[in-house]
Amino acid sequence: MHIVVIGGGITGLSAAWELQKRGIPYSLLEASHRWGGKVISSKLEFDNARFLVEGGPDTLITRKPEAWDLANELGMLDQITNPGSEVSGTYVLDNASLHPLPVSPTRFITTPLLTLRGKLRMLAEPFQPARRDDHDESLADFVRRRLGQEALDKFIGPVLGGIYNTDPEKQSIMVSAPVMREMEKEGGGLFMGAIQSAFRGGKKKKSNKPRFISFKDGLEAMVNELVRQLTGDLRLNAQVVSVKHEDDQYQISMSDGSSLLADGVIFATLANQTSALIKDISTEASQQLSTMRQQHIGTVSLVYRESDIPAKPKVNGLMIPRREKRMIDAVTFTSRKMPERSTEGYAVVRVFIGGGAPEMVEYSEDRMIEEIKRELAELLGITAAPQTWKAFRWEHGFPQADVGHLKRVDEIEKLLPPNLTLAGSSYRGIAMPDCIRQGREAAAALSLYLQGA
Ligand SMILES: Cc1cc2nc3c(=O)[nH]c(=O)nc-3n(C[C@H](O)[C@H](O)[C@H](O)COP(=O)(O)OP(=O)(O)OC[C@H]3O[C@@H](n4cnc5c(N)ncnc54)[C@H](O)[C@@H]3O)c2cc1C
Repeated sequence: MHIVVIGGGITGLSAAWELQKRGIPYSLLEASHRWGGKVISSKLEFDNARFLVEGGPDTLITRKPEAWDLANELGMLDQITNPGSEVSGTYVLDNASLHPLPVSPTRFITTPLLTLRGKLRMLAEPFQPARRDDHDESLADFVRRRLGQEALDKFIGPVLGGIYNTDPEKQSIMVSAPVMREMEKEGGGLFMGAIQSAFRGGKKKKSNKPRFISFKDGLEAMVNELVRQLTGDLRLNAQVVSVKHEDDQYQISMSDGSSLLADGVIFATLANQTSALIKDISTEASQQLSTMRQQHIGTVSLVYRESDIPAKPKVNGLMIPRREKRMIDAVTFTSRKMPERSTEGYAVVRVFIGGGAPEMVEYSEDRMIEEIKRELAELLGITAAPQTWKAFRWEHGFPQADVGHLKRVDEIEKLLPPNLTLAGSSYRGIAMPDCIRQGREAAAALSLYLQGA
């Protein structure tokens, strides 16, 4: 039995890891010259200053256990770092002014971001009727129903829209925040659900895991460790161009003219990439995958002298709602969140692009940096030029999960033979732990199927 995994991002690597643990022979094929896909940690150096920046993900949530568990299996728990809470010092832009996110009771009462009416509507959340079915809805509809329009416009929409680089009116709640629907279903609402889970948490043995984690050498350390411990057939610069039936097997052809035979295939590639690969297997599945939207996304880490950053307000992060019509979507002060990754006397600012102004991701680097400099000057008063920077971008690289997405994925999978499986950020959750879970589940299901269990 031989299984081929297409795509060497975190999903494909996790699938290969699961196959190896089960003793199943596998090949892992990656089109580019490096492993990890969007997981990319990069060193920046100039003069005597050194920085570690992340191109894609920078933290892992531990409420989803898969990344922690994998780190444990790989023997990496001693490399884990705690980047602290994601929301402290985070501001939101409203009508061109910065407001701290009203996450504490005092901030909530005093914030000018919400009117009194908006605050009262939020406080009335426990009295809203609970929806207890499993039907999907948009993030926006959910927040409007539970907390009101103002909470959506001013506070929760920008945060969730920023995290998922998406329009909350289109984004499926069941993909992005199913935990909120669970709280409503089981506890009757967000407030009651939070109390119940705190009560359950109090009864459980206290966990020593931080809420968010990273690794000392960046998240790519997990990719490097996986590659180090994987002993199967691993190939870089191996771009798959077609997958075709060949008797009871599949023929996987690569761009260099070589090919492989497989008894089962895991597509750990984005929907649009998978669509092109399966057109000879199922035109309908291929067509449906091609209609799944994939947004541009990019990040740029810029290094400034600390003295060039205005002392006030002390911003750790800034969320920029799309209605503000800016060229950038969010800003994180990495050097404040993870000071050990930077040299004293410097500030590292990570800027997210591609949501509000997708064209930014296609600009030349010079033009992109000029736009970012202008935005940082207008929004945060940073008028100095950066000392250096590093840009990362993915055109059509960020999958969007519209309302009804999970049902669509189920339907597409039914169109495929059982020995071809889909896994990764386009399908059942976009965060790294979701990708690890999907890669491993696909590998486990395929091995059991092929072993006739
Ligand atoms: C800016 C940004 C910030 C993020 N922040 C976080 C965060 O803080 N925390 C978090 O948990 N998640 C975060 N995410 C999400 C997470 O990083 C991604 O969803 C995840 O890394 C995707 O992994 P993947 O393996 O499914 O896909 P990818 O990383 O896209 O990998 C797919 C791989 O398939 C390869 N491939 C494509 N076509 C072929 C082919 N024909 N043949 C062979 N190989 C092929 C590609 O080259 C690529 O390497 C972030 C993502 C981005 C972009």
